[in-house]
Amino acid sequence: MLEINDLHVSYGHVEAVAGVDLSVRPGTVSLVLGPNGAGKSTTLNAVAGMVRPTSGSVRIDGADLTGLPAHRVVARGIALVPEGRRVFAPLSIEENLRLGGHTTKASRAREISDRVYEMFPVLHDRRRSAAGLLSGGEQQMLAFGRGLMSDPAYVLLDEPSMGLAPAMVDVVIEKVAVMAEAGIGVLMVEQNTEAGLEIASEVTVMSRGSVVFRGPSERVRSDPSVLRAFLGDA
Ligand code: ATP
Repeated sequence: MLEINDLHVSYGHVEAVAGVDLSVRPGTVSLVLGPNGAGKSTTLNAVAGMVRPTSGSVRIDGADLTGLPAHRVVARGIALVPEGRRVFAPLSIEENLRLGGHTTKASRAREISDRVYEMFPVLHDRRRSAAGLLSGGEQQMLAFGRGLMSDPAYVLLDEPSMGLAPAMVDVVIEKVAVMAEAGIGVLMVEQNTEAGLEIASEVTVMSRGSVVFRGPSERVRSDPSVLRAFLGDA
């Protein structure tokens, strides 16, 4: 289990994350909601070792990885798929995946890329195309695939549906469910509440750096007014 306890992160004098607790079980999706500036991205970035928490802890099955640099967090089994996808546009799909697997042994990397192509057949069909020629949804799948190349136990997804056409949102969210079905624990920040709730087992709402609601998504699905009180118009 991935456990985040009492996490605090500051940028200078601004405390962006002020005591967040979150946990993710393998094979499940844990959804994080909240308005802009709530500290959602900062939380993911702190878990991934992109920013250093000021206090609190991040653990996998009890083993502490708080404050490790990003490459060591990857080695411990956590992959971040950042907001905005950031694929290498001029490089082919194959080359993008190879970059994602640069820390993995060559034979193992081939095995994993086969698995990625199985999960995302569209990437296999277009594996020699430049990533920049893919649609937004396909680029998001490539970003997922690149994250999976380090063979993570947990993935951190920052707004995977952002900027996608409505029809593609469901396709991408469905692929998140596929990753969880494969046994990966998913911590997902997502603005598209409805789509996110369909596949999540737990939901956490953040506001101004803190957790203001946490519960099983089942409860929220059956009574959406539960969330409305916390999210407002967000
Ligand atoms: P969004 O949905 O807009 O990405 P968020 O919930 O992910 O919002 P964060 O991006 O984590 O929120 O931002 C939390 C707070 O930290 C905000 O007040 C933001 O302005 C501030 N912040 C984020 N990144 C930095 C940074 N690199 N330097 C200084 N302040 C930052």
